[in-house]
Amino acid sequence: MKKIISLLILPIFLFTGCTFKKSMSTYDKIIKNDTLVVGVKTDTKPFGFINEKTGKNEGYDVDVAKYIVRDLLGSEDKITFVSVTPNTRLEAVTSGNVDMVIATMSVTPQRQLLIDFSVVYYVAGQTAVVKKSSNINTFHDLKNKKVIIVIGTTAEQNIKRVVPKVKILGYKTYEEAFDALKKGKGDAFITDDTILSDFVYKNNDYKMLKGKLSIEPYAIGLKKDESQKLKQAVDAIIRRMNKDGTLKYLNRKWHMN
Ligand code: GLU
Repeated sequence: MKKIISLLILPIFLFTGCTFKKSMSTYDKIIKNDTLVVGVKTDTKPFGFINEKTGKNEGYDVDVAKYIVRDLLGSEDKITFVSVTPNTRLEAVTSGNVDMVIATMSVTPQRQLLIDFSVVYYVAGQTAVVKKSSNINTFHDLKNKKVIIVIGTTAEQNIKRVVPKVKILGYKTYEEAFDALKKGKGDAFITDDTILSDFVYKNNDYKMLKGKLSIEPYAIGLKKDESQKLKQAVDAIIRRMNKDGTLKYLNRKWHMN
């Protein structure tokens, strides 16, 4: 009798075992495929851009990604970069198209509902650039003015919190947004100081406004995962990058701070 019962139970067990089989964690997928797929920016100097001569991905975020892959898989060659924008980076993570996003992405409570974040690896601040010749000197001078932002960034909510009466002009990429600014379509462009300083350096008829609209803590975006395996590994790597001086070195290399 015992034998019959166990024979009856076995197929049920196998069936349910199959049906409810948990999908593989991102960490296990990375190890199995021996490849790390990372979403980075390609139009945001100096964090994520394409070197025009070599055609290769470069920047602060790209260097962070390379350190992580060396640690996880033992070689820099085992990385695949996928281009993301502020508007596509969350979905790239939630869909599993990338294993992680390293793309000047700030930790926010809204984003934390959708994805997990690593510990912070860089702290930026948000401000605005305007024409030097304009009479805009403070954020409050932007009242009723046209402000350019990149869709999917924190800029819109940050400026509206301080100056509710602004007209927002949203663009999909930094390239388009900077182009619009140069063509005079808006009075100011708002994003992180890390990104604006490169623009001001190259366009000296523009200035950055003093003060900060917000603090922007950059962290790595990860798919929500109960096991927390990848988050634990990535957090440990970032803490090591902090301890061994790598983050300080990257700040110097990419002229941050
Ligand atoms: N760090 C800000 C954000 O996460 C703005 C810069 C950007 O992401 O492009 O929205």
